[in-house]
Amino acid sequence: MKIYNTLTRKKEELKTIEPGKVRMYVCGPTVYNLIHIGNARPMIVFDTVRRYLEYRGIEVNYVSNFTDVDDKIIKKAMEEHVSAEEISTRYIEECKKDMQGLNVRPATVHPLATQEIDGMIDLISILIEKGYAYKAEDGTVYYRTRKFAEYGKLSHKNLDDLQAGHREIKVTGDGKEDGFDFVLWKPKKDGEPYWKSPWCDGRPGWHTECSVMAKKYLGEEIDIHAGGEDLIFPHHENEIAQSEAANGVTFARYWMHNGFLNIDNKKMSKSLGNFFTVRDIAEKYDLQVLRFFMLSAHYRSPLNFSAELMEAAKNGLERIWTAADRLRDLMADGQPESQISAKERQTLEEAAQFSEKFNAAMDDDANTADAVAAVFELVKYANTHINKDTPQRVTEKIYEQMDTLCNVLGIILEKEEEILDSEIEELIAARQAARKAKDFAKADAIRAELLEKGILLEDTREGVKWKRG
Ligand code: AMP
Ligand code: ZN
Repeated sequence: MKIYNTLTRKKEELKTIEPGKVRMYVCGPTVYNLIHIGNARPMIVFDTVRRYLEYRGIEVNYVSNFTDVDDKIIKKAMEEHVSAEEISTRYIEECKKDMQGLNVRPATVHPLATQEIDGMIDLISILIEKGYAYKAEDGTVYYRTRKFAEYGKLSHKNLDDLQAGHREIKVTGDGKEDGFDFVLWKPKKDGEPYWKSPWCDGRPGWHTECSVMAKKYLGEEIDIHAGGEDLIFPHHENEIAQSEAANGVTFARYWMHNGFLNIDNKKMSKSLGNFFTVRDIAEKYDLQVLRFFMLSAHYRSPLNFSAELMEAAKNGLERIWTAADRLRDLMADGQPESQISAKERQTLEEAAQFSEKFNAAMDDDANTADAVAAVFELVKYANTHINKDTPQRVTEKIYEQMDTLCNVLGIILEKEEEILDSEIEELIAARQAARKAKDFAKADAIRAELLEKGILLEDTREGVKWKRG
């Protein structure tokens, strides 16, 4: 597989540190609110890269953090008069629900920044020892950016050019030796969460956490580091500076960055009133449609979100689902005993070409747009070549092929019917009525039926409560 590496600005063949294994780190969201559809883009595209690698037989150790200590979380906690932990715990749960709806698989590990403070203190201590960091009078610890000779290698920025372009960066003040120095540890403010450290009671800087979590769960050297393109500078540049100065080895071999999602060709922002959470979209669409929409473009291209494009994605996905339904029907009442003829063998061979096209597209820097096109070709082929006279085994093979490719894209061909809240309430009412009529067998049967659909009932004094299991 070839991957476009932001570091070299070239597509490069993926050569892993350990044969057959990929160590991959994807910067996760800051959890102070429901995730928006822009945040969903890296989740979907890098989940697809992971799925593709696994489909090609590679074991992927996939680590993606939740940033659960941050100014925005603290601000929200203060507004709601609750702890920062309550806010982050709530939105991690909500984020996981959205991920499930988008069929983004849970990472191998989802580390939390607040659980890794000791590691951050160790990293900062090493950087101070090696002369790459220093403590200011107020207890803030800064990274000495100019000491890291390769600073700027990822974003292809040169500090002197940056300085010429941004006069304000020259301003040092607040105990910094140089305007480019960035915070590794900062002192607490009133009412903020804090941890003890050798420098002051305080909390880590954002960049520090990813360097530490990547090392703890993947090692000092990793294969792929990914995130949205806004993270290239300064976040990823700073991660490189910290990790490479501390560990003395190359941090990540390949840096992948997704392009931004815009709304009606404008930057998504709350102030422009064009801001959508994943939950907003879920009110109108199955989230599989959002996933399919994202994969219909190349991950590095900017992607425009609009009502028309979502409708187009929905229609496309329905075309695939309809073809899959038809194949399933044919499998159920196809020709079980027929021999596979030469013609049918040819059908299978021809269909196999679409998997080859799919693989070639994905091998070319995860070109999901072309991979989706290959799936459509397979759909068209199945619609015209598979019918009630086709031997069952051939139909099954074509279906399996479609299912395998869709699975790599995270598209589910056979969805379990989701039970609606109103249907649950109706069944609970029927169960109550059965109990009242002393028809306990019926009441138990309804309870069992709900359980089978993942609905748990709890009989309380205030009545029956239910939750999805
Ligand atoms: P944040 O919570 O802001 O740190 O963002 C989490 C992830 O979402 C990062 O990888 C960001 O680069 C990415 N991201 C944020 N906004 C967008 C957007 N509009 N389009 C694509 N990716 C985004
Ligand atoms: Zn990060």
